[in-house]
Amino acid sequence: MHQPVALLWAAQRATKGEPRVAPWHDARGHLAEIIAAVGDRADDETVAARVLGLRGSPLLDFHFRTSSPLERGVRADQWLDERNPLLGLSDGAYRTLAGEGALERFAEIAVDGLPKSQGRLIREYFGIFAGFGEVPGVPEGTMFENRAALVERRVHINRQWGIVGNRERGAESVVVSGGYEDDEDYGDVIIYTGHGGRDSSTGKQIADQSIDDTGNAALVTSHVNQVPVRVIRGPRKNDKHAPSSGYRYDGLFQVEKFWQRRGLSKFQVCLYRLVKVAGRSVEAQRRDNVLLLPAGNEQPGRKTSTVDRVTRIRALSQAVKDLHNHVCQTCGIRLAVAGRGYAEGAHIKPVGQPHNGNDTADNLLCLCPNCHVLFDNGEIVIEEDFSIVSDYPNSGFLRRVNGHEVGVENLAYHRNLFPKA
Ligand SMILES: [Zn+2]
Repeated sequence: MHQPVALLWAAQRATKGEPRVAPWHDARGHLAEIIAAVGDRADDETVAARVLGLRGSPLLDFHFRTSSPLERGVRADQWLDERNPLLGLSDGAYRTLAGEGALERFAEIAVDGLPKSQGRLIREYFGIFAGFGEVPGVPEGTMFENRAALVERRVHINRQWGIVGNRERGAESVVVSGGYEDDEDYGDVIIYTGHGGRDSSTGKQIADQSIDDTGNAALVTSHVNQVPVRVIRGPRKNDKHAPSSGYRYDGLFQVEKFWQRRGLSKFQVCLYRLVKVAGRSVEAQRRDNVLLLPAGNEQPGRKTSTVDRVTRIRALSQAVKDLHNHVCQTCGIRLAVAGRGYAEGAHIKPVGQPHNGNDTADNLLCLCPNCHVLFDNGEIVIEEDFSIVSDYPNSGFLRRVNGHEVGVENLAYHRNLFPKA
């Protein structure tokens, strides 16, 4: 990996407008630093020997003419230190890299042959696109003829799978193609079905999906790490959100929630609520995150009620928290900030599509922030008898107070979103 690092170091100089060549004495420190940062050994002799090995490369210009030390039994680092040759990209490569997007293409070639994870680390160090986020040169709305074209431009690097990613790093991109009957598309909000459990020839759901399958686990990681995912919509007939032919890159979406349920086929499916990240109006965010308006309902007259509703939810949540004196209903902790109790109003049955839980007191819990996160992600569920199921410290039973009736049907709905494996 030393050689790709040296090539990219030289390439980055070109894109930054720095002089084409630098003396070895300057380069040495930078290279050792980068190599150590991306996780390899970086003693002087190893770095020097590998970099010296590049002198035959057409991409690199190494300003020395005499024979190399390698065939004469001298240590490469000593030899380079004494002569201090100039090191940099060849003339042609340097000029090419002044162009836009060129560094990305160059990086691709430079790290080719390395294990994928190592190549990614090196690219990330140099701030070069490594799979996540916007693909340089591919703005939102870009059309692609087919899946092969998506792979070609690195927008979605698998021709068959709907999800690219893994449990460790999260998901880079998903293709919403309408192949899954449980998908729902509301434009800025997509209910996305995980993969697996389908018959390959008929496309029918014939088995349960597993939250541990690579792509499904990747989307859970994206949710936990809050790293947005590229969404590509495939062709669908008569759907205002999808292209009628070809594939369209539709921007970055946050994986806001995940859960499981029996799908239309009666088999267990993994579902994800994807919410568009950028370019959304405050109004649209309110509508998607808080409100329960049906898709496409954008009558101007609704705006007043939007504000009313947000205000009402706040007041309701405040009332519930006051009733509990800000004591967490699952762990019993009471937080105070500057002498004022602090808790959060947590919806039991989630609001918004597709759950459409009510913003009523029987659908709210008073939780501390920790328990709120755990509850929202199914790490805490409440049984019918109000006993708490969780691996985390808790008070055994849901703490209840007079005047705040918790809806058992809401608890059941929440429980079913996170079935035990
Ligand atoms: Zn708590």
